[in-house]
Amino acid sequence: MSRIIIVGAGINGVTAAIELKKRVHEVVLVDPGPLPHPLAASTDISKAVRAAYGADEDYTALAERSINLWRHWNEEFGTNLYHEVGVMFVRRRKMQPPDFEYESLKLLEKHRLKVARMDTPRLWQRFPAWNPELYRDGVFEIGAGYAESGRAVGTLIERAKSIGVELRSGSRFASIACPRARLEWHL
Ligand SMILES: Cc1cc2nc3c(=O)[nH]c(=O)nc-3n(C[C@H](O)[C@H](O)[C@H](O)COP(=O)(O)OP(=O)(O)OC[C@H]3O[C@@H](n4cnc5c(N)ncnc54)[C@H](O)[C@@H]3O)c2cc1C
Repeated sequence: MSRIIIVGAGINGVTAAIELKKRVHEVVLVDPGPLPHPLAASTDISKAVRAAYGADEDYTALAERSINLWRHWNEEFGTNLYHEVGVMFVRRRKMQPPDFEYESLKLLEKHRLKVARMDTPRLWQRFPAWNPELYRDGVFEIGAGYAESGRAVGTLIERAKSIGVELRSGSRFASIACPRARLEWHL
């Protein structure tokens, strides 16, 4: 067992803390707070969650795993932090290689993810508010959606505390004094 200090309780810090605690390490999570921190990138009403990342197959594979984990969290926490409403990218002209939308479509199909090509007639039928004269083509990732990101961080912070992560909210990491990290607490 190691004693691990994690600096910053945004989505990356809090999920790392939970994972390391599950692996039976002693974990201290440090953040100036209040949590979720109002200036943290993770703290927001919503963040898009999608596997459409153009031709970037590594990122698509990671996002595919992450979407499954978001579904799992919805069940585990008994509340919808992730909303599977779909994400659509549209273009004003027919998409083709190497357009982001075209490469996304090809990769999503290769990964057998639920996807629809939004050519003009379908776009017009399914989304009548959109002007099919302007948006002629696109990709609709059906299993994508958005996460209530600030609420997700808050929920995960509570989970981290409940499994024994030591939360130092009100503390700020000040400097690294090589070779050892030095912490200054501003409580
Ligand atoms: C405008 C915007 C829109 C975005 N949209 C999307 C999107 O739609 N979909 C998507 O997937 N991603 C999106 N992102 C990216 C995503 O928000 C970030 O990748 C993610 O939130 C980063 O999380 P983090 O935990 O690394 O950082 P943060 O959430 O920023 O957390 C950092 C934490 O560190 C703490 N901290 C800072 N300094 C110290 C210190 N000295 N000591 C201790 N703690 C400290 C802060 O208080 C904070 O809580 C977006 C980002 C931005 C800015």
